[in-house]
Amino acid sequence: MPPTRPLLAALALLLPAMAAAAPPMLLTPERVWTGEGASRAGWAVLVADGKVKAVGPAADIAVPPDAERIALPGKTLIPGLMDLHSHVLLHPYNETSWDDQVLKESVEYRVLLAGRHAEAQLRSGFTTLRDLGTEGAMYADVAIKKAIDTGVIPGPRLFVATRAIVASSSYGPNVRAYRPDMHLPEGAQEVTGVDEVVKAVREQAARGADWIKVYADYRTGPDGSSHATFSQEELNALVRAAHDSGRKVAAHASTDEGMRRSVLAGADTIEHGYGGSAATFALMAARKVAYFPTLAAPEATSEYFQKHVRGGPPTPSMQAAARAFALARQAGVTIGLGSDVGVFAHGGSAREAEWMVRLGMTPVEVLRAATVVNAGVLGREQSLGRIAPGFVADLVALDGDPSADIGALRNVRFVMKEGVPFLR
Ligand SMILES: [Zn+2]
Repeated sequence: MPPTRPLLAALALLLPAMAAAAPPMLLTPERVWTGEGASRAGWAVLVADGKVKAVGPAADIAVPPDAERIALPGKTLIPGLMDLHSHVLLHPYNETSWDDQVLKESVEYRVLLAGRHAEAQLRSGFTTLRDLGTEGAMYADVAIKKAIDTGVIPGPRLFVATRAIVASSSYGPNVRAYRPDMHLPEGAQEVTGVDEVVKAVREQAARGADWIKVYADYRTGPDGSSHATFSQEELNALVRAAHDSGRKVAAHASTDEGMRRSVLAGADTIEHGYGGSAATFALMAARKVAYFPTLAAPEATSEYFQKHVRGGPPTPSMQAAARAFALARQAGVTIGLGSDVGVFAHGGSAREAEWMVRLGMTPVEVLRAATVVNAGVLGREQSLGRIAPGFVADLVALDGDPSADIGALRNVRFVMKEGVPFLR
């Protein structure tokens, strides 16, 4: 179909222009939760040029005569949600094992699935994702991000990590499960030594990585237990190279030693942290390293592989996650919302928010984690995560009040990204 490509290209060029030229919009929900304090009944939000122009009591807002009015009766308007640990190139392991996704699914097929995953995320109110590794799909996340940014496909704003960096022979696919003479694709970029580590950071940065993702430990023990993989010197060099290039570092670490080395190296966020000690969480708090507890992931894998029934007694992996979450809170660590979605179905990131409340956070604390706190981790606290004048108009309306009942995050009815309604 020859006309399709020029048409798409024209559309892609047109979409941002259309957003800019759209008339102002006045949103009148039942209440507004701005990112601060309690939700406010009777407030309205004026949006123009992709930004929030005004927020406050409806009577106090000067509404331009050409403004489109969008009534959202019975709904709470909140800032667009953020999940800062996603994998749009993965789908649930009970559908296809991780090994089979990496070894048997073509990158083309995985990218098409990822387009649907991105749309499902946006539809569920998540307007920003930090996508932490393509799991063998090379730099496909950079292409998906571009397709979203140019309006070719709908999806959240993506911060991408490309391939992720792992120590040589310390990641999946697990070569022990295959003939030794088989050459398998790698689930991430494998490196050894300071020079290779630094080179990988620079390569990924050049290819479009917004963040550098490193695996500080993995299941390399003789019994499959997790152990630190990179040396302190390698991690130090990795973080220095990333920071020199203006990129932050997310460290996968499940062991206390992997976490400790990552924090000492200067990593910006710790992912999972299930085996963290009180001392390491205290070190994280002191060095202002944010924590992404990924509580929903062990529940999902327990369902897939250990016959766990949702709501039933927690498995050892779920208990470890709950213990780490409690220690992090006691230590005063900054906790963001990051779920590892992709391990479970896209569009279901609210599951993480529900777990955070179940394990002791208030609904408002969790909403802040998913908005204001996550914006700070991204270094976008001046433009994302709040409903305030000058902030990007990423807005979500849902039935009920999530600041009172976090379950309301399941009831998303309206989604706007950068001033453009996607779902209404
Ligand atoms: Zn992950």
